Amino acid sequence: MMVILKPNTSEEDLNKLVAELKEVCVEVQINVGVERTLIGLVGDTSNIDKGIIELKECVDKVLKVQEPFKKANRKFHPQDTVIDVCGNLIGGKQIQIIAGPCSVESEDQIIEIAQRVKQSGANFLRGGAFKPRTSPYAFQGLGQDGLKLLKIAKEITGLPIVSEIMSARHLDMFYDSVDIIQVGARNMQNFDLLKELSKIKKPILLKRGLSSTIEDLLMSAEYILSGGNTDVILCERGIRTFENYTRNTLDLSAIPAIKKLSHLPIIVDPSHASGLSWMVESLSKAALAVGADGLIIEVHNDPKNAKCDGAQSIHPDMFDVVMKKLKKIAEIEDRFI
Ligand code: PEP
Ligand code: MN
Repeated sequence: MMVILKPNTSEEDLNKLVAELKEVCVEVQINVGVERTLIGLVGDTSNIDKGIIELKECVDKVLKVQEPFKKANRKFHPQDTVIDVCGNLIGGKQIQIIAGPCSVESEDQIIEIAQRVKQSGANFLRGGAFKPRTSPYAFQGLGQDGLKLLKIAKEITGLPIVSEIMSARHLDMFYDSVDIIQVGARNMQNFDLLKELSKIKKPILLKRGLSSTIEDLLMSAEYILSGGNTDVILCERGIRTFENYTRNTLDLSAIPAIKKLSHLPIIVDPSHASGLSWMVESLSKAALAVGADGLIIEVHNDPKNAKCDGAQSIHPDMFDVVMKKLKKIAEIEDRFI
């Protein structure tokens, strides 16, 4: 439910109303806009009489919010959320580029890739240390050692780190080493993990599940927001469809849809979406054209011998070419890289 106040409502009237609303046992979220103040009522609002609230002098109208996601809803928070990660603003005018290998393999590998992507203009370094692999016999990542190598790469290049968490048991480790904690597609509905991440003060990159709807994704974001962590970045990384030419199907329409439904920033992963390195450039350009706030791209210095996702990883030389083209697309969209 959302209470829209009349313009020029005094602070005294606002505080009085908020106190009354809090008594009916719901969480109250205040959003002070340039023209109007909105009060979002989160929780069980079934016993609240809309008509009684509308009788208050300072209230213009009360609207029922149909969608099950509230804190992630643009109706509650009309302005875009912009998240500051080490001085990089995600969700603002600048397009943020996260680049790096699927997994950290060695010190030389991660440092070389970090230096190359930085030179080409990337804003963040990605690298998996704990890998969610379909086969238990496949490379599972270097674990804590991988996080240590990412830290070294950050010291050398200054690039903030994005890495995937698989278990809440690793939270302390991630809290120390990583600037954005990634929740992978397979864990998007690991609600216990989401609840733990909701309690910390660290940005979360939440990837869309393989078979999840846009609403499912926003409900998972709601778990993180509802516990008090407001820094959620969404990621469209392709969904399972009947098409099998590509690894997944990039749902480009999810970007404008999510921009309409939610205030949270959304980025696109063209690498996992296609599974094909030669398609990364086209999908990256398309993603920026439909309004994505950034990209997460897999880059490897030796894709043929990569321990994970080599077929979809682009070489740093290619990344450099792609970045130059993306800068032009960003300009057309009145943004910059
Ligand atoms: C990854 O980013 O390497 C990854 C495993 O992504 P996803 O969870 O989207 O499959
Ligand atoms: Mn990968």
